Amino acid sequence: MEKENKNLPEGDVKKTIQIDINTLNACVQCGLCKTVCPTYNVEFDEAYSPRGRILLAKSLVDGKLQLTPEVAKRWDECTLCRNCENICPNGVEYKELLVHVREEVNKNLGKDWIKYIGLKSLTFQGSKIQKLFLKAGSLISKLVLGKKNTLPMFFPTGAVKFFPKPRWDAQSLRGKIFFPLGKPKATVLFFPGCMYENFYVDTAKNVIRLLQKLGYRVIVPDQTTCCGGPHYYSGFVEMFEQLKEKNLKVFNRIREKYPIEALVVVCPTGGGTFKEEYKLDLPVLELVEILNRELEEIPSPKEEKVTIHYPCHSYTAMKMDISLFDRVVEKTRGAKLVKGELNKSCCGFAGMFSIKNPTLSDKILKRKMEDFAATGAEKILTSCPGCVLQLNEGTIKFGKNLEVQHIADFVASKLLTKEEIEKLDTLVEELKL
Ligand code: SF4
Ligand code: SF4
Repeated sequence: MEKENKNLPEGDVKKTIQIDINTLNACVQCGLCKTVCPTYNVEFDEAYSPRGRILLAKSLVDGKLQLTPEVAKRWDECTLCRNCENICPNGVEYKELLVHVREEVNKNLGKDWIKYIGLKSLTFQGSKIQKLFLKAGSLISKLVLGKKNTLPMFFPTGAVKFFPKPRWDAQSLRGKIFFPLGKPKATVLFFPGCMYENFYVDTAKNVIRLLQKLGYRVIVPDQTTCCGGPHYYSGFVEMFEQLKEKNLKVFNRIREKYPIEALVVVCPTGGGTFKEEYKLDLPVLELVEILNRELEEIPSPKEEKVTIHYPCHSYTAMKMDISLFDRVVEKTRGAKLVKGELNKSCCGFAGMFSIKNPTLSDKILKRKMEDFAATGAEKILTSCPGCVLQLNEGTIKFGKNLEVQHIADFVASKLLTKEEIEKLDTLVEELKL
């Protein structure tokens, strides 16, 4: 049942939102969600809490408030980490609620151009023009930055993000089949996602090598685009649907020819989007789930103290059991896992959130970095490209002497020899459909 705002003067009717009142009423205002909300835990203000954001939506639907940019900003300041949804005893569907609220805001208050341009640029993922753009970016950043690995990017919102340099070989893994050493035990699709394809190519290569080593034939599709997760979460649902349709066509074409047993991801937002919004009739697996099942204990000479950041969407969207991350790290006998108290708390990246809300994002990040530093670990492990980017930025902005490493790179560094990598990298063919 939808409730329309009847109390506003004529002409202002659009300055409201339409939301399923049952979704709003499911919130009984207990406030438990505040304990896990990253924005509330740095601002300590109800307006920055999940409960406050739900109440705000209710006030609009009830006609007590009008939709203004100031009101919309409160919803924009949510990372959509979904920790509130995860802990809520009443099953409030917070993600669906906020996506719908944001969609209504986009319709009624007009486009947020910064968000729109950022999200629109992701729809070019995989296109020729984008590849050329990345190559140019790679050359320029090499000339300007030399051997430095990070490229500071300044945004009109005041945000400064430290991106890795664009790679010359960006998207070079597309349209290929990678083979294991022996007979393949199964064939899987690997969807690297925008950030791995454009910036973290070495991590994507390590994911493929680990799967090859474990006996899988790995197909990296061509002609796919962004998964659309960032678009969906920002309320650009139409744009999301277009991306979904394009990706599904590619997946289906591949599945007509190859017996695909799972879609493998290392981006939990993408994985969650495939599971929840694509509703694929195919298991969607995070690499860690496969490593946990199939990896034998890795003897490793160096005793390293490592800590971990569990990416929110791995357990809130993909519904992963986070103890799998621990088990994979613990299989590396040379690593000692020391956990911080905030290991499940959002890092403050959340895509467009950190660009739109730099001060809030930095506060969340600083709190995280202090928690990591208190563990005495040398290294932070995680499994999300956005978290890798954000935590690296944390080491630059807040001067913590910690290395950030993707769990795939960590395991590959312990498991694969140089000779093995050279051999595995030759076991590749073009994907012909
Ligand atoms: S935990 Fe759930 S029911 Fe309680 S205030 Fe938060 S959203 Fe509402
Ligand atoms: S999604 Fe995350 S940031 Fe947003 S209200 Fe819920 S816990 Fe807070």
